[in-house]
Amino acid sequence: MTLATRCSITLFFLLSLTACGSGTEPSANVEDDRIDLIVKGDYVVTMDAAGTVYEQGAIAVDEGLILAIGPANDIEAEYSAKEVLQSDNRIVMPGLINGHSHAAMTLLRGVADDLALMDWLNNYIFPAEVEFVDPEFVRIGTELACWEMIRGGTTTFVDMYYFPDTIAEVVESCGMRALISATVIDQRSPDAENADDSITKGIGFIERWKDRNSRITPIFGPHANYTLDAEQLAATRKAALDLGVPVSIHVSESPFELQYSQDTYGMTSILLYESIDFFDVPTIAAHVVWPTPEEIAVLAARNVGVIHNPTSNMKIASGISPVTEMLAAGVRIGIGTDGAASNNDLDLWEEMRLASFLQKVDRMDPEVMSATTVLTMATRGGAIAAGLGDSVGSLEVGKRADIIQVAFEDVHHVPTYDVISHLVYVTDEQDVASVVVDGKLLMREREILTIDTERVAAEAKALAARIQSALRERNQTP
Ligand SMILES: [Zn+2]
Repeated sequence: MTLATRCSITLFFLLSLTACGSGTEPSANVEDDRIDLIVKGDYVVTMDAAGTVYEQGAIAVDEGLILAIGPANDIEAEYSAKEVLQSDNRIVMPGLINGHSHAAMTLLRGVADDLALMDWLNNYIFPAEVEFVDPEFVRIGTELACWEMIRGGTTTFVDMYYFPDTIAEVVESCGMRALISATVIDQRSPDAENADDSITKGIGFIERWKDRNSRITPIFGPHANYTLDAEQLAATRKAALDLGVPVSIHVSESPFELQYSQDTYGMTSILLYESIDFFDVPTIAAHVVWPTPEEIAVLAARNVGVIHNPTSNMKIASGISPVTEMLAAGVRIGIGTDGAASNNDLDLWEEMRLASFLQKVDRMDPEVMSATTVLTMATRGGAIAAGLGDSVGSLEVGKRADIIQVAFEDVHHVPTYDVISHLVYVTDEQDVASVVVDGKLLMREREILTIDTERVAAEAKALAARIQSALRERNQTP
């Protein structure tokens, strides 16, 4: 491309301004002038604050960044790319943000269903984890989860599990973006003896990964205020502040927690955290099903990122989160799947749909929680809640190129009147065609490019067979 054409549309293309201002003539040959990627769509749903949607739009991507976005004709007049994702029956939008997961629990999918949270945790999940979870389990389970999430258009996830170095290695290799928690819990866990040990090991993990890969943010994951006491929560907060990293934590999830917090600390969970200045550290709070109006005000004032997990809350019967009230109060809210053992999949499209329907039926008001509101929670809102609002969550010039193409060719998309309505109320994870993270293709036309899916499936089945025979010996079928 020539300097003249670049300068002619500087209003559209922020980065061109630098090139024009520098006064240097591009000297490279045509080959070198090509940018990495152009992604085209019949519609480009940017999810920016103004809700901009381009019909027959395109995005220019180079070196992991969104260079330009606008009508496809303008983009293609300006740029040529090494690869172009075509627009036919394709909707382009930001990748989805899964704000709360325990990725490796894909390997425990379906081992213990239809149980209450504390029965499920204490009698099934925690014992099974101590017995089976090792770095190999975490590697295979996380690969399985990343495969499922990429297939479904998720580009960023906030994870909390054991052996976080292994999780980070999988994320580094499969190309996704993640905040990875070192779990802090005061009991014998697969990777630590108690709270002190898990904090010490967490510090080591965070130091190893803090500046290693821009796609990976290592954080602390204090489990909850019923698996840690106030002193241990304060110690985790201090370690996170010292290292300059956020935390993710389960907050106000169940009636059990509500009662436990009242009995043990003499106050409800969020007020407990506020009383120890826990929210001085940027906090991603999963669930928040039972906040009082006073606590909702604290969440808003302290910029706590709340992650709504409607499927998990329904399946474990934790309750219905007052998402409508929290949004009205200005709380930052994203959406998560929770682990596959309490969902039982990692499908954020289903999560969006249920987030909307659950609020509507709870209020007996179909006007609450519109399609646009939930789509925002799964993209820009989730990015803000996770502290990544400046870099991902919407398609805007200068942001990292985390982009998905959704195929609108299945019978359930015919006809299409309103793309936002279809994305939220119709689209399934199988409709996602291509996925780009940080400018790199992780899936092209439904072919996963960064994970050896055959190997992962074989390894997962072999490991699951071992788990199943041990469970049968304990009479904890299946
Ligand atoms: Zn969880």
